[in-house]
Amino acid sequence: MQKIIKKIHSLMKTINKPIKLMEVCGTHTVAIFRHGIRGVIPKEIILLSGPGCPVCVTPIKDVDIAIAISKKDGYILTTFGDMMRVPGSRKQSLFHAQAEGANISIVYSPMDALDIAIKNKDKKVVFFATGFETTSPSIAGTLYQAEHAGIKNFFVYSAHKVVPPALKALINSPDLKIDGFILPGHVSTIIGSKPYEFIATEYKIPSVITGFDADDILTSIMMLLAQIAEGRAEIEIQYTSVVKPEGNRKAVELINEYFEPCDAKWRGIGVIPGSGLKLKKSRKHLDINSILKIDVSESHEPKGCQCGYVLRGIKIPTECKMFGKACTPEHPVGACMVSTEGSCAAYYKYSGVVR
Ligand code: SF4
Repeated sequence: MQKIIKKIHSLMKTINKPIKLMEVCGTHTVAIFRHGIRGVIPKEIILLSGPGCPVCVTPIKDVDIAIAISKKDGYILTTFGDMMRVPGSRKQSLFHAQAEGANISIVYSPMDALDIAIKNKDKKVVFFATGFETTSPSIAGTLYQAEHAGIKNFFVYSAHKVVPPALKALINSPDLKIDGFILPGHVSTIIGSKPYEFIATEYKIPSVITGFDADDILTSIMMLLAQIAEGRAEIEIQYTSVVKPEGNRKAVELINEYFEPCDAKWRGIGVIPGSGLKLKKSRKHLDINSILKIDVSESHEPKGCQCGYVLRGIKIPTECKMFGKACTPEHPVGACMVSTEGSCAAYYKYSGVVR
């Protein structure tokens, strides 16, 4: 590892200017803190966190809709535990709704939600599906199981997101200039490296798909600096043990069998063309939107919350006036303080080492 750190310092001497790198994945944000990466690289390398935490980017309107579904008679809403504490527009979370009697079950996988549907045939069971390409194959697989087992009371509310269009939106943002991307390892095991190629060909920005231990992250920083120093812009794979350029074709085929791209709203960023997944028309019998029209009055972000700026890498969490005061992991105001992968929660937990 010392050799890699030495090489990073020497490359920065060659480059001789500050460099902004963005890690897109929330797991990387946490790993960078946990391994003390900022403490061993030159301070001229600025590591920014991007919109890579699925809980954080789920817009508040989807939370409001999930809460509304959970309060309907004859329905059970199922969701991952992380979504439970995200405040909705009226400062109410799914936890609050559950405490008031709404029928909500926390699940560890979509298959658990399907089990609940099998055991509760008199109820409509809705899975609040959030996450990136890492989780969408397991949801598609569950829908396949539901169809083939003839389960008629299982539905999905899809708030899925896909990563490459969000990167395009970030690159096109006039507020941000990124010199290189540390690309997500888990998402890339599914989609491979090819969907990112536009970053290098159209925008000439170096990128490296990276693993999660200290060696992985430092090596990827070294690879990015080498590209910058040599004037190259490529999509390189550091995480070669699990990521192949073509990705996992079977998983991608499964996603494509059930879902199609749609424009999607990202919290604090807005609508990004083609950045969501909705159920295909041919699968509308699995789509809760086809049987239930949920009308929530206008949803709005918590006043003063800077999640939108944090998710775009324009501000760091400590620049939010509520950070660590009105907003803590115990009493989160915004979504970025809820999930362990959220930037604000990571900065809060490791605030002793923030610079
Ligand atoms: Fe939002 Fe809290 Fe983060 Fe501020 S500290 S940006 S209020 S989540």
